[in-house]
Amino acid sequence: MDLTAASHRIPLSDGNSIPIIGLGTYSEPKLTSKGSCKTSVKMAIDVGYRHIDGAYIYRNEDEVGEAIREKIAEGRVKREDIFYCGKLWSTHFEPERVRPYLEKTLKALQLDYVDLYIIEMPMALKPGDEFYPKDEYGNWLYHNSNLCATWEVECHPYFTQRKLLEFCQQHDIVIVAYSPLGTSRNPLWVNVSIPPLLKDELLNSLGKKYNKTAAQVALRFNIQRRIVVIPKSFNPKRIKENFQIFDFSLTEEEMKSVEALNKDVRLVDLLLWSDHPEYPFYEEY
Ligand code: NDP
Repeated sequence: MDLTAASHRIPLSDGNSIPIIGLGTYSEPKLTSKGSCKTSVKMAIDVGYRHIDGAYIYRNEDEVGEAIREKIAEGRVKREDIFYCGKLWSTHFEPERVRPYLEKTLKALQLDYVDLYIIEMPMALKPGDEFYPKDEYGNWLYHNSNLCATWEVECHPYFTQRKLLEFCQQHDIVIVAYSPLGTSRNPLWVNVSIPPLLKDELLNSLGKKYNKTAAQVALRFNIQRRIVVIPKSFNPKRIKENFQIFDFSLTEEEMKSVEALNKDVRLVDLLLWSDHPEYPFYEEY
């Protein structure tokens, strides 16, 4: 199956399909100007993206929804052309809280449905309306929960997730890779001791060969393994750049050499919650 800019959905085992590239929309609210998310989503749809990754906790879902609705009103896309993934935050794992929290997303988006709804992080925090609950001493308020196994996976050339990929492919499970470019390197939640992925020598030299950037090579590597990527960018040039990955391909040997960059290290290590009883990253995968 050839992936192209115009046709790049891959099948899911339930009969649905998912576009193999989506626009990530997480951007630190304090550092992001109002409206930039909306402009970026509109631009991404114009460029050809049909998958948008968002969450109520990103505090910009209203802008995402406005952008999608405006593009539908313009006749550029129909609702069914767009794949929107929303997320359940850790303070709302109690079964009775799930639906009302999803409804917040729908209200913010002003859309009737989302295409995918996932657990954002498999560690529960004290249920309630406080997103980051702490006690009076500043300690996190954790919560016991009955976790679903569903979760998304960090994945890029420094963390290739080979074993998980094999398992998922054997069981017809599609992986969605967050942070496919190596994150925005926010030291609050990212392990910044690992060198920036996009400065990697091999990714840059392969980029030179194909007249592409290291970012495009990193994204191409994942989509060639049938892993969905959701690079975040609110920069017009980079939104376009990240979508221009359907007009070249890496050879088998090059795929192997990129795979060999794997360091088995997680950038989004969430060490701030490492003493949570359900902290997931002590497991092998
Ligand atoms: P990414 O790996 O997508 O990296 C985003 C960073 O790279 C931004 O600083 C962006 O800046 C920059 N960038 C984008 N394109 C390029 C390019 N072509 N060349 C150089 N730099 C580039 O990291 P994220 O962690 O944001 O992951 C992507 C999305 O995954 C999130 O936005 C979110 O939707 C989702 N997600 C992330 C989770 C996480 O814990 N990290 C968890 C769950 C979901 P600029 O905007 O200026 O281009």
